[in-house]
This record gives sequence, structure tokens and C-alpha cells, in this order.
Amino acid sequence: MSRAEVSRMRPPLVPLGTLIGRELRNEKLEKPFLKYGQAALAKKGEDYFLIKPDCLRVPGNPSTSFSVFAIFDGHNGISAAIFAKENLLDNVLSAIPQESSREEWLQALPRALVAGFVKTDIEFQQKGETSGTTVTFVVIDDWTITVASVGDSRCILDTQGGVVSLLTVDHRLEENVEERERVTASGGEVGRLNVGPLRCWPGGLCLSRSIGDTDVGEFIVPIPHVKQVKISNAGGRLIIASDGIWDALSSDMAAKSCRGLPAELAAKLVVKEALRSRGLKDDTTCLVVDIIPCDQPVLPPTPRKKQNMLRSLLFGKKSQNFMNKSTNKLSAVGVVEELFEEGSAMLAERLGKDFPSNATSGLFRCAVCQVDQAPADGLSVNSGPFFSPASKPWEGPFLCANCRKKKDAMEGKRAGIPTVIS
Ligand SMILES: [Zn+2]
Repeated sequence: MSRAEVSRMRPPLVPLGTLIGRELRNEKLEKPFLKYGQAALAKKGEDYFLIKPDCLRVPGNPSTSFSVFAIFDGHNGISAAIFAKENLLDNVLSAIPQESSREEWLQALPRALVAGFVKTDIEFQQKGETSGTTVTFVVIDDWTITVASVGDSRCILDTQGGVVSLLTVDHRLEENVEERERVTASGGEVGRLNVGPLRCWPGGLCLSRSIGDTDVGEFIVPIPHVKQVKISNAGGRLIIASDGIWDALSSDMAAKSCRGLPAELAAKLVVKEALRSRGLKDDTTCLVVDIIPCDQPVLPPTPRKKQNMLRSLLFGKKSQNFMNKSTNKLSAVGVVEELFEEGSAMLAERLGKDFPSNATSGLFRCAVCQVDQAPADGLSVNSGPFFSPASKPWEGPFLCANCRKKKDAMEGKRAGIPTVIS
């Protein structure tokens, strides 16, 4: 299909002003529908993806549906990518309290993502395999998008205002000073071979966070950066892709290369564009997800300069100044509302302060693996090595002995392992 043919398929334009007006009048938001496409080119065959469009918060109730899209870019083998693909979603969902309302569910999600990522990593570690994987995990519930990521597979959001934003952070040692400092402080060594990017030792990995990598050093943590945003009911497009795309294209280039095209074609075009500019150097996987207002057959095309000109003529103002102002105003009326963002690698900071206990059994529930344990067998994240009145063991979430061990190891505090601080 040529671009001209595609553009003939476009629906009649809904004027931007109408869309903004609807948002401002706060009309009842109807559930959007999703259209998605996927494209990939394999070089090593270590990229995996997950598309689960009809998950239910409440079993049997279709009005509680949400969707999950994820990319797993494996390294040193494929077992971690496959394991994460098969287990991560269940591990995340098991960390959300049962019978939550929709609002409570969305609020609990960032924390559940942290617990689910760490639990999946611990379980994979117990298999004794050595591969690792990046994870970019996207949950879409109506107009709310929650993205959790470790590694360098990105998710970008292209909104109807033409604003492209990055919903992930790259956990690459080369580009992330904070992560370099954290890895060094937790006992890793960061350096460069003769050529190529910064890596850390033991292991020689370029990433600072992943699931798996049991042989690399526990300072490579599975704690995800999490960002939650709400888009306006004008809709938007997500592009989720492995580094094979992002090493070749900037976020803007990727978004612009496929605007106005249906999602399936868009995914193919982004992969093709990356290939054209850089050749096939790596596995390259791309998911495109359009969040579409329910009264539209496809995502309305993003307004272009020409329309801005027209708008400014209609309003009787031509100055560049006005056009800039109108663009700024567009983002100011809430094309994207940021609900949550946290990227700390410290588990205690990510799990909140609740200390759930079962009054009848006297057991505590581990905030990571959700196992019920007697208080004597585990400790709060903030407590010292022994219970004592001074160590305030009842502050912070409860961790079972196993997850507590993992937490200490991630922070470079594991007994017997010397901590190198440079
Ligand atoms: Zn646990």
C-alpha cells in the first residue's frame, strides 16, 4: 500500500479544537480501543515479545479489561527472555491486592511491577541459568499507560499534539552516570575494553539493570524504572522497540516515520527505516500500539504545519509567535498527564511503607514474593540484622528471608563479598 493510498483511507479530520474542547468539558471518557502491529528482523534470535490485549482485572467482567505489551531483548542466550515472557505478568498481578477498585489497582500497579520484576529475577536465578534480558513492559488501562523497564529497550509516546515523549530510561552504563555510580558503590567495576561502550565487571555487561544475568554480579538489578501517564481522549501511539531500532533512529525519527499509517504498517515501516539507516546489526523488534478514541476508526493523523497555518489564518493571526504559543498551550491543557515516575534502584524506596499482616494467622506477607511468613523468619526492609528495639523492625514493608537476602545482595551488602568503592 502506498502512502497516497493510505492517506485516502484516513477518516475525516476532527478539528483539534473539538478534541480539546471535549477534554476541557470533561465529557464522560469512553473506553478507547487498541490497534496494534508488530514487526521484527532477527540477527541472533534473542528478541521476544508479548501481546496480551484482553486481560481482566476481575475475572469474568469484560469492563475491567486491560492490555499488556512487552519486549524482552535477551543476551548470552534466550532462557531469561523466555522465562520473563512466561512469568512476569503473573508475578506482577499477584502483587496487587485482590478486590481493588480500578483506581486502587492503577495506584498499586507501579509497586506491583517492582515486586513482580524482582520476584521473576529471583525465580530465574534459582534455575541456575546464566542468560539475561531487558524488559519493557507496558500496561494499558483505558487512557492510563504504565511502563516498567530494565535495560535499553525503549517505549515512546506520540500524542495527538505531535509531542513525542520517552516513557523509559536507558539503563546503559555508557549513558547513565547515576547507574555507573550505583554499580561502582555496590562493588562492580566499570571500564572500557579497547573499543566499544562502557561495561561492568564481573561479567562485561553494558547494561546496569536486567532480569537474569546470574553470573554477572548482583549490582545488575531487576528493579524497573516505572512511569505512569494518562493521555487525553484524543488518543496516542506507543512505539515499543528493542535497541536495534533506537541505535538507528531517534524517538522523533521513529515517530515521524510512521505517522498517519495504521499500526501494523507503522511497525513494519519503523523496522525498515532502522534497517535502511544502519543495516541489520542486531535483533530488531518493534510493537506499535494505537490508543484510539472509540468514535474513530483509526488514530486521527497528527496535525501538521499546514493545519497550524490554516488555524492561524482562521484566527486571523499569522505570527510565528502565535503558532508557538498555540503549540505550548496544547501540551498545557493536558495532552499527557504525568501520574507517577520513579527509577530508584533501592528496593526499600520502591515498596512503600505498608506492612501487611494477617491478624488471624499472625503471619506477614512478603512484599516481593507474596509468601506468608512468621515475623521471626523475615525482616522489614529497614530493620537491622537482628530484631532489637533500636532497629525499628516494623517500619517499611516486610520481606521474607529469601527476598531480604536478594535485597542485601543488590545493594552490595552480602556478607563475605568484599565491597570495592572507588
Ligand atoms: Zn519474599
